Amino acid sequence: MRRRVVVLGGGFGGLQAAVGLERRLWREDEILLVSEQNFLLFTPLLPQIVSSKINPRHIVQTIRDIRGKRRFAFRRDTAVSIDLAARRVILTSGVIDYDVLVIALGSRSEYFGVSGARENTWDFKTLEDAVALRDHVLDMCEHADHTTEEATRRELLRFAVVGGGYTGVELVTELSDFFSQYVARKYRGIRPGDVQLIVLEATPEILRGISPRLKTHALSRLNERGIEVHTSAKVTRCGEDYVEINGGQIIRSATIVWAAGVRANALVEALPGPHDRVGRAVVNSALQLDGYPEVFVTGDSAAAATAPEAPLVAPVAIAQGGIAARNVALFLRGEPLESYAYKNRGMLVSLGMDYAVVSLGRLQFSGYFAWLFWNAAHLYKLVGLKKQLQVAMDWMLGTVFPRDASILRRPTQCKICEGAVGRGFRARAGK
Ligand SMILES: Cc1cc2nc3c(=O)[nH]c(=O)nc-3n(C[C@H](O)[C@H](O)[C@H](O)COP(=O)(O)OP(=O)(O)OC[C@H]3O[C@@H](n4cnc5c(N)ncnc54)[C@H](O)[C@@H]3O)c2cc1C
Repeated sequence: MRRRVVVLGGGFGGLQAAVGLERRLWREDEILLVSEQNFLLFTPLLPQIVSSKINPRHIVQTIRDIRGKRRFAFRRDTAVSIDLAARRVILTSGVIDYDVLVIALGSRSEYFGVSGARENTWDFKTLEDAVALRDHVLDMCEHADHTTEEATRRELLRFAVVGGGYTGVELVTELSDFFSQYVARKYRGIRPGDVQLIVLEATPEILRGISPRLKTHALSRLNERGIEVHTSAKVTRCGEDYVEINGGQIIRSATIVWAAGVRANALVEALPGPHDRVGRAVVNSALQLDGYPEVFVTGDSAAAATAPEAPLVAPVAIAQGGIAARNVALFLRGEPLESYAYKNRGMLVSLGMDYAVVSLGRLQFSGYFAWLFWNAAHLYKLVGLKKQLQVAMDWMLGTVFPRDASILRRPTQCKICEGAVGRGFRARAGK
């Protein structure tokens, strides 16, 4: 009997599941991977897109290229809802039935109900977010370059990153490199003292999850680079050009980036049964949804009963994608399923050019060799030789030539440009 297994989401977890299913299911079984994007995004290198260090195309690999000669089918489409009782998924361009479903839909930003955060901050989750933020940073430099009033120039060049986790810290250190290595040389109207980089972290410490010793190294590195780190600084309100901390202090900034929290995909939150505090579906040790043994949930979408505290990171998604594939095959054969057990694989955090902290079990080190290790590990994990060579070339060329810092699209959400465009249109209409 031909059975159809549908995998929702072509990220780390979903792709791992689709590739694993291909090896384990009978030839007549159908495997269909559905994803909103037709590529796999290598999120760990997103901060280097914002700093114009690497080309955005170099950190994505199309799903069709990854698939190669494998037989699984791919459909670029968006899942709108899941009808568990009827065993069907409603997509924007049709409905598909399934016998078994693997859900790997990833996550989105969590704003913790902070007033104005969603509307007034720059999101930092997708390739599009990173490219838009990159163009905005360059746009701010262009405006600041010819702004004679010092206070305005400084406001344009004040960048507040909300969230002192590895994403926020890697982003702010990349920005710091960008300003010292590129902007300082190319923008004659900007002085180094005009730029201010700020990290706002609600808890008493940044980089939760690494040892106190490495944390101290990381903090002193940030201080050396002039990056202001405010801990116990809970953002309570965001406006068009300001952020409010702990219900009182106001920081004026033309750019507030939100890297503070994640929440499971809305379709996952809508699933029946228990969810954890970030909205992940609580699934059993075999990653099955409560009451629906034919539905498996993985990666950022899942909180496995055996590993409720597993972080929302790529290695967890990849491991769970692999287990989901094996368990789908066992389930269809009526055999006992495997349990997922979380293994902490450590943490690598880049702190800009020439410096990183590495925490791999007992192996804990920081500095230049940690940075080389970070680079090698990320290059190795990139999917496809072509992408590995492209990123390696970007890194190498970046040591000799200036970064490619052209603004690629008309700046959006820029108060200055919007005003200028409006006046331009009116002037032309009046002629
Ligand atoms: C800026 C940033 C930096 C990060 N850095 C690191 C790092 O250094 N190390 C690390 O381990 N982890 C990092 N992560 C976390 C890591 O990317 C995630 O934990 C991982 O991608 C989760 O894998 P996943 O398969 O669950 O979801 P994802 O990889 O996010 O994949 C979800 C997929 O589902 C698709 N999708 C979503 N909604 C729909 C829908 N309605 N219909 C169809 N398709 C849909 C998406 O397009 C996407 O392809 C980072 C994340 C971000 C945002």
